[in-house]
Amino acid sequence: MNKEEARQRIIKLREVINFHRYNYHVLDRQDISEAALDSLKHELWELEEKYPEFITPDSPTQRVGGKPLEKFEKVKHISPMLSLADAFSYEELLAWEERIKKLIPGENLDFFAELKIDGFAVSLTYENGLLVEGATRGDGKVGENVTQNLKTIESIPLRLNEDSGINIKGRIVMRGEVFLSKQEFDRINSEQAKKGLQIYANPRNLAAGSIRQLDSKIAAARKLDSFFYNLVTDLGQKTHEEEHEIIEKLGLKTSKYVKKCENLAQIKDYIDDLENKRDSLPYQIDGMVVIVNNLDLENRLGIVGKAPRWAIAYKFPAEQATTKILDIQISIGRTGALTPFAVLEPVKVAGSTVSRATLHNADEIKRKDIRIGDTVIVQKAGDIIPEVVEPIRGLRSGKETFFNMPTICPMCGGSVIRPAGEVIARCANVNCFAIQRERVKHFVSKGAFDIEGLGEKIVEQLLEEDLISDPSDLFELTVGDLEPLERFAEKSAANLVQSIQSKKKISLSKFIYALGIRYVGIQTAGLLADYFADLEKIETSSEEDLRDVEGVGDKVANSIFRWFRNPKNLEYLEKLEKHGAGYIKEEKTKELEGLSFVITGSLSFMAREEAEELIRHKGGKASGSVSTNLDYLVVGENPGSKLAKAESLGVRVIDEAEFKKILKI
Ligand SMILES: [Zn+2]
Repeated sequence: MNKEEARQRIIKLREVINFHRYNYHVLDRQDISEAALDSLKHELWELEEKYPEFITPDSPTQRVGGKPLEKFEKVKHISPMLSLADAFSYEELLAWEERIKKLIPGENLDFFAELKIDGFAVSLTYENGLLVEGATRGDGKVGENVTQNLKTIESIPLRLNEDSGINIKGRIVMRGEVFLSKQEFDRINSEQAKKGLQIYANPRNLAAGSIRQLDSKIAAARKLDSFFYNLVTDLGQKTHEEEHEIIEKLGLKTSKYVKKCENLAQIKDYIDDLENKRDSLPYQIDGMVVIVNNLDLENRLGIVGKAPRWAIAYKFPAEQATTKILDIQISIGRTGALTPFAVLEPVKVAGSTVSRATLHNADEIKRKDIRIGDTVIVQKAGDIIPEVVEPIRGLRSGKETFFNMPTICPMCGGSVIRPAGEVIARCANVNCFAIQRERVKHFVSKGAFDIEGLGEKIVEQLLEEDLISDPSDLFELTVGDLEPLERFAEKSAANLVQSIQSKKKISLSKFIYALGIRYVGIQTAGLLADYFADLEKIETSSEEDLRDVEGVGDKVANSIFRWFRNPKNLEYLEKLEKHGAGYIKEEKTKELEGLSFVITGSLSFMAREEAEELIRHKGGKASGSVSTNLDYLVVGENPGSKLAKAESLGVRVIDEAEFKKILKI
């Protein structure tokens, strides 16, 4: 390749790389693998190495580079970067509208609503199309020059789109938000944990911290993303909506969750809609921004203090709150696991009152340095059980006390063991009352024998009165056994016996799950049932055979293998059989052979577990995670984050009606 050919090739490579970058990082559309793209970048890098005279500032190779800075230069903003006033209720939104209407009497207001991303505000300056400066908000008037770090964000173009029909000559300034997706945040934290390093409390702080690093390699290693929404330079826009449109045309990423509304009632509907979608979005939001759409009116309304009058941030109920740890107690699970939890001074989080939060295990308490008496941040997001994020050390009085994991079981006094390399401590007493109780509760739970009317209190009584010693005894209970118990009338005793007897035979996957083998949850039980279709085959399988099941790893295979080698468990299986409990052998059909399904949200016509079983029964696969190989994502009521993931991967998404058609029900 001669020099001229190299020059041509470099130009072409830059164009192609930029084209795919835009599709992937701005439009969320993947049309080339990351590996292929890396390969192109590598070729470009090598050519530029050889012919450095052809390197341009907008070359994709210029995103990460240069030596770490000694300090950030200060940047004066051409107009102040404002922060917004907050509203915490619809009433406060109405009051805001009333206030501004008084200032512009007789004017017709329309509004624009957009997401309030939990990110870090930045400003970009382009000159003749080329990105020349990126800055933080700072104090609103003066920020820091973080151009090097912002260049590492692939959704930010180094050069504006030249064929949008918009004149990009001169200086163009715009503002937006830099943030981390939930997925990337989790990835970074799990890597931190693996290295024994500090866990970050929230994506916002991590995004901010990444942008304020002097070495741009750190920002580059964290896959930050961006949305832009405010065009400072006058390019002819008359409304805020047009700012979004122009920014999008220039090649930057804008949020698709925006809506122009004629009044606040419409805004309210849109806010409610997005509050429901909140947990399924791939990034964190903490509310919505409501803006007066007409820019003339914005100018007339002006600014009060550091906040504009023409916009307001509507905040969703906080998913975090602070409260005090009154005590740390232990709960015992069916495998004997001792799980510490915090007893809290009741506090409202995300709309409900929380008085307990999990602390996971002793290592976690130590790592987070949580003490009894601490004021802590508690978090409750979506369906996830409340957890303690971190203590606020500055509020300690010195009277806080350390928590020590008990060395004897608080329930039975048996010894507590913690095998080397495991984080979970367990009660070693197989006859521990708590273990027995949890085992029975598991056995009758929805995913297992699904027996109604057996609450915790009744299970405790049955065990205390020696009416049962393990779950298999449930099937031998008579009305006469139950009647003497507290709060049991003749009729309810008869009902319970009837309900137990009607559930003697269940599907194989439910039966496997009911056994309560460690690490075998509903999903794994389904996989095993699918693969072996017979409990005896599982029982006689080697660890190697078990590992052949897709989705079963070393740890699970070992746990299953050992369970079936324990004489006590074999006795238990025999006893179940003797009492008439077992599973129904099913002949599977092949209707859905080769097709895989994931269900997200709840279905109106049957429980999710049942639907998954039906899929398996018809020869299909029901898996838990969304990947590009997935055939269908079935979406029910209140779908989780799987929906967004499936959409981004281009997986086919179907609703209940379509799903029923496929199942032929
Ligand atoms: Zn115990």
